[in-house]
Amino acid sequence: MEIKDLLKMQKSFDRYLAHISTGLDNQEELDLWNKVVLDKKLLALSVEVSELANATKCFKYWSEQGPESTERIHDEFADVLHMLLSVANSLKMTSEDIEHAYIKKHSKNYKRQAEGY
Ligand SMILES: [Mg+2]
Repeated sequence: MEIKDLLKMQKSFDRYLAHISTGLDNQEELDLWNKVVLDKKLLALSVEVSELANATKCFKYWSEQGPESTERIHDEFADVLHMLLSVANSLKMTSEDIEHAYIKKHSKNYKRQAEGY
């Protein structure tokens, strides 16, 4: 499965959510609604990242408990990915846009480290 397939699946789910939340049926209006709720999606993404951190317990230096199950951590990771893909769809990012931006930043990060960033 490729990024484009995940974006398509998320777009379908986002339209479904928009439909059941608003009662709208028109695809253009559903897409507009998904753009309008971008700020809420970004907040949801932040919450899901926090839920992932909470499942790993990586920040709980005061706790002697280990991380939650691998299944639970993977589930939270999937939540993060869902919201990230939803944000990408709201921003009208294509799989090519995502890959280009990632590769560009990836190279920049290597360069930064080589230069003592
Ligand atoms: Mg979650």
